[in-house]
Amino acid sequence: MNTLAKIHYQISPEDPKGHLFQVTLKIAQPDAVGQLLSLPNWIPGSYMIRDFAKHIIMPTAQTAKGRPLDIIPTSKSTWQVEPLSPQEHAAGEELSVQYQVYAWDLSVRGSHFDESHAFFNGTSVFMAVVGQEHETCQINLVASQHAQMQEWRVATTLPKKQVGKKGWGHYWADNYRDLIEYPVEMGSFLELSFEAHKIPHRIVFTGQFERQKLNTKQLLQDLKAICEQELSLFEKPYPIDEYLFQVMLTADGYGGLEHLNSTALMASRNDLPYLHETERSDGYLQFLELCSHEYFHTWNVKRIQPKVYQTTDLSEPVYTNQLWWFEGITSFYDGLILQRAGILTQEQYLNRLAKEMTRVYRMPGRFKQSVAESSFLTWTKFYQQDENAPNAIISYYTKGSLIALGLDLLIRAQTEGEKSLDDVLLYLWQNHGQTGKGLKEGEIEAICSKVSGFGLKSFFDAYLYGTEDLPFEELFSAAGIQFSLRPATSLKDMGGTTDATQYPVSLGINVVATEHQTLKVSHVWEGSCAYEAGLASGDEIVALNLYKMSTPAQLEEFLKRYQVGDVLECHYFRRDELKQTPLLLQAAPEDRVVLTVMPSVDKEFAWLI
Ligand code: ZN
Repeated sequence: MNTLAKIHYQISPEDPKGHLFQVTLKIAQPDAVGQLLSLPNWIPGSYMIRDFAKHIIMPTAQTAKGRPLDIIPTSKSTWQVEPLSPQEHAAGEELSVQYQVYAWDLSVRGSHFDESHAFFNGTSVFMAVVGQEHETCQINLVASQHAQMQEWRVATTLPKKQVGKKGWGHYWADNYRDLIEYPVEMGSFLELSFEAHKIPHRIVFTGQFERQKLNTKQLLQDLKAICEQELSLFEKPYPIDEYLFQVMLTADGYGGLEHLNSTALMASRNDLPYLHETERSDGYLQFLELCSHEYFHTWNVKRIQPKVYQTTDLSEPVYTNQLWWFEGITSFYDGLILQRAGILTQEQYLNRLAKEMTRVYRMPGRFKQSVAESSFLTWTKFYQQDENAPNAIISYYTKGSLIALGLDLLIRAQTEGEKSLDDVLLYLWQNHGQTGKGLKEGEIEAICSKVSGFGLKSFFDAYLYGTEDLPFEELFSAAGIQFSLRPATSLKDMGGTTDATQYPVSLGINVVATEHQTLKVSHVWEGSCAYEAGLASGDEIVALNLYKMSTPAQLEEFLKRYQVGDVLECHYFRRDELKQTPLLLQAAPEDRVVLTVMPSVDKEFAWLI
C-alpha cells in the first residue's frame, strides 16, 4: 500500500438521531483551477438513477490552514471548489472538504444509520475527486462517541492498513472504482466464519433476531457446500482470498447486491434456520439461493463483465443487451448449485424450477418485449415497473434463466453429454474474467456457439432477440423430464406438482385486502375476464353478486361455486365513484409449469449431477 495516498476520506457515524454520517475528504494535490467533486448517480449492479447526492448536506471547503473556500453545486451531483491561491498552491497546501450524509435508506443500495447499526456503500458517501479517480485512496473509519458506547465493530473487506481489534482505523483502496466495491457494516452484529476450499469466509447478521435459537451449524455447513460448489465449477485460480456476506435482518426484507469479494443482503429473520426445525424451510432455501446467487456474481459480472461496465462513469445510465447472461445465468445456477451441493433433492429442485418457470409463463408481456430489450431498457422498465408490467415487459432474470436452462439442455443433447453450460462459464472465466477483457455486445452468443461446437444463431434470434417461448417439451424430453402446463389451483399457486383434479375459474387479477375490507386490484392480466369487464389497477372491488368481498381468501372460496360461462355482477369503486360491471367467468389459463421425471428414466440421469 502506498503510504502517501493523495486522497484521504474520514467517515464517522456521528448522529444516530439525525441519521448523519460526518465525512472529511482531504486532497493533497487539488486542481489548480478549482477542484471538481462528484457523486455517482447509480450503483453498479442496480440499474436505476438514484441521485445519491440528494442526501449530501452542508458541504464546506477550506485550506489546510483553515481558510474557507467556496463550494457550489454545478449539477445535481457535482460541486466546484474555489481554487487555492497561487501561493497556497505553490506551497503544496491540501484541500479539505467536509459534509454530512443523511443515511435513512434501509436497502442494499444506499446507506442507513440509527442506534442499532450503520451501513454504507461508497457510492452514497464518498465524493470522487474528478481527474484523480485513478489515485489510491485512504479511508479512516472513526468510531463516534455513540459507536464507542455501543461497543460497535466493523465488518468490511476494504483492504486494511492499520486497524484496531474492532475494525476501526485505516483502510485503503486502489482507486475510486475499487473504493465503492466495499460496503461497510458497523454495529453489534453476530459474526460467524467458515472456510470454503481453505478460503476464509465470514457472515455477519445485523438487526433483531433470536441469536441463541439460530442453527449456526446447519447454516455454515450449507453455505460452505454452496461456496465450494461454485469455487470448483470455475476452478483455480480462485478470484478471492476472503469473502464476506453482510446480512441485514428485518421482518420481510429480501434483496442482494454483489461486490468484488462481499455481498450486502437483506433477508427476513424468519428465513434463517432455527434449532427446533427438523428440515430446511422454504424461506431458508430461498435465503440460501440468494447467497448462492450473489456469490456466483463474484465471477459472473464482477470479473466476467460487459465491456461497457468497465467505464468509471456512473453519472449516466450504461446500456447493454447482456443482462440476460449476467442475471439470467446467475439466476439459473443459484438453484442448480443447491441441488449439486446436496441441499435440494432432485424432486425438490424440479419443483422449485417449475415455479421459477411459471413466473415467465404467467406473463403476457413475454410476447411484447424481448429479453435483450428488457436488459437494454432496464433503467426505465424493469427497475421502474408499474401496474401494467405483466402485460408489457419480461424480466431478464426469469426469462434469462430459462434461456440458460434451454441452452444447457440443448448443448448437452447436441454434444451427447460431452459439453454443457458449465464449459461456457469456464471459457468465459479463463478468457475474460481472469484477463479483465470485457465482453462486447453479441460476443457471449458467439462464445456459446464456439464452446458447444454448433451454430446457435437461430436459437438466440428466436428466444433472446425474439419473443418466442422456448421449446421445453422437446428439450426436456431429451433429458428424460416431462414438461407440462396446468391451470392455477389458487391465487398463491406458483406452479409445480399438485394433487388437484379440478381447477377454479379465473378473474385474471391480483388483489390485496384494504383497510376498509375491500379488495384492491393491483394488476389486471390482458385478455382476462376482469380485463374484458373493464376493471383496472387501483379499483376497489366491494361486492360480487351483492356479496361483500373482504379478503383474497374469501374471494377464492366464493369463486369455487361458479363455473366457466357464469356471469357475476361486480360492484367496485374507481376513485370515489361507484361502478357496476358484469364479469363473464373464464377458465384459468394453463400457465403453471409442472416438471416430472419420466417413469422410464434412471433418476440419476446426467443433467442433474
Ligand atoms: Zn443478480
